[in-house]
Amino acid sequence: MRPPAPFWIVKCPDCSGEQTVFSRPASTVNCQVCGATLATPTGGQAKLRGELVRLAGA
Ligand SMILES: [Zn+2]
Repeated sequence: MRPPAPFWIVKCPDCSGEQTVFSRPASTVNCQVCGATLATPTGGQAKLRGELVRLAGA
C-alpha cells in the first residue's frame, strides 16, 4: 500500500520560497516567508496560487 503523497512542495509566486502544503487544506495556506496566499481550500484538493514543484516525499 503506497497511497499518493498528500503533501505538495509549492513555490511562492512572490518570493520564490518553497513550502510544504497539505493537498487538501481546511483553510487558506500562506507563505511562511512573505505571507502571500499559496493555496485556498475547495473542499477537495487545494486550489494553488503558487507553482506545484513536486510531491513531498516522492
Ligand atoms: Zn513568499
